[in-house]
Amino acid sequence: MPGAFTPPGERNDTHLVGQRCSKCGARFFPGARASCIACYSPDLEPAQLTRLGKVDAFTVARQAPRGYHGPVPFAVGSVVLDDGASVICQLIGKEPEAWQCGERVASYAFLLPRDAEKRSEVLCYGFAPATPEDLAEAEQSSPARIES
Ligand SMILES: [Zn+2]
Repeated sequence: MPGAFTPPGERNDTHLVGQRCSKCGARFFPGARASCIACYSPDLEPAQLTRLGKVDAFTVARQAPRGYHGPVPFAVGSVVLDDGASVICQLIGKEPEAWQCGERVASYAFLLPRDAEKRSEVLCYGFAPATPEDLAEAEQSSPARIES
């Protein structure tokens, strides 16, 4: 998904890039909707989403799906971001079985092998446990800065 997330900085953190409804302010990810699911307005614009969210639900995958060459088992979660967007993606940074619903997470970039031979890697986005630094950064962010 090109353009789905910002380039990771020094801390390997990244913001997902979705859509924001100009009429009601609802946010979505991925940013491929033709109209708002909350108010049906077609006026959607690209929006950088907040990094912070909570795990709403998760499951542990024990079989690698086709085209996936990363470690197995791995956790896949539904994360609700603090700005309201909902994202389904991989949960990283701890043992898959150790995740709990309601846990604070932040978006990060990470590398996965591109092929079974692991000759090259592809940059992906996922959510890892939020660090105190992540939580402090989110408190300093104004809504205007998040929307940029
Ligand atoms: Zn709307």
